[in-house]
Amino acid sequence: MIPVTRLPVLFVGHGSPMNAIEQNEFSLTWEELGRVMPRPRAVLCISAHWETWDTRVTAMANPRTIHDFYGFPRELNEMQYPAPGSDELVELVKQKIKSTTVVEDQEWGLDHGSWSVLCRMYPKAEIPVVQLSLNRQLSVQSHYLLGRELRPLCDDGILILGSGNMVHNLRMVTWEADAGYDWAVSYDADLKNWIEKGEHEQVVHYEEHGKPAELAVNSAEHYLPMLYVLGAGYADEPVSFFNEKVIMGSISMRCFSLG
Ligand code: ZN
Repeated sequence: MIPVTRLPVLFVGHGSPMNAIEQNEFSLTWEELGRVMPRPRAVLCISAHWETWDTRVTAMANPRTIHDFYGFPRELNEMQYPAPGSDELVELVKQKIKSTTVVEDQEWGLDHGSWSVLCRMYPKAEIPVVQLSLNRQLSVQSHYLLGRELRPLCDDGILILGSGNMVHNLRMVTWEADAGYDWAVSYDADLKNWIEKGEHEQVVHYEEHGKPAELAVNSAEHYLPMLYVLGAGYADEPVSFFNEKVIMGSISMRCFSLG
């Protein structure tokens, strides 16, 4: 049974770091989500931009703002998102995840996968944020199951936020395009359909979908955060989609909340 006080889980297609400072259709939606979604006690963010060889959580009291990109304007390089960390959330994550050891990390911080979105959702940076890394050693299915282990956090006022892009192929990006290649639009629509119907197995076993999936998920790090969100949600919960658009040929900006 779904408890009534449960927080929804959220996946955000983050796209360019410029969305942190640009007023556009995507960032305006993120602002709106911050206003309309129930306010979390803390955020657990799984970002495409933190890959490690074990499973880590940011355990520092004041995670630094990481500018993990090049060639962007000074305004973006100087951007700070001073949200505090949370010992309590670190403890909760360590308690809930039983399938693997969770290492407390003191080096990382908040990368642009998390802060470029959170600075629009919660601009005051007063809500504590902890990041969970993507462990390169895990199978695709294991990432989904880690999400399942984190599910009880939603009942505890924690927002589970996955930040990546459901379709993401940097090699095929055409910078000036405001639309997507046919294969990108079509695979994005397939994903929407599977998520809507609660067919998570289709999303997890994307490698069985041949060429379109190969193109859409050409490196998995932007795809995997979505699996944590699906794993933490219930397949029969209501799903809402936002920013339903493929841009630059091969990047889907689609976001969804579940619950
Ligand atoms: Zn990214």
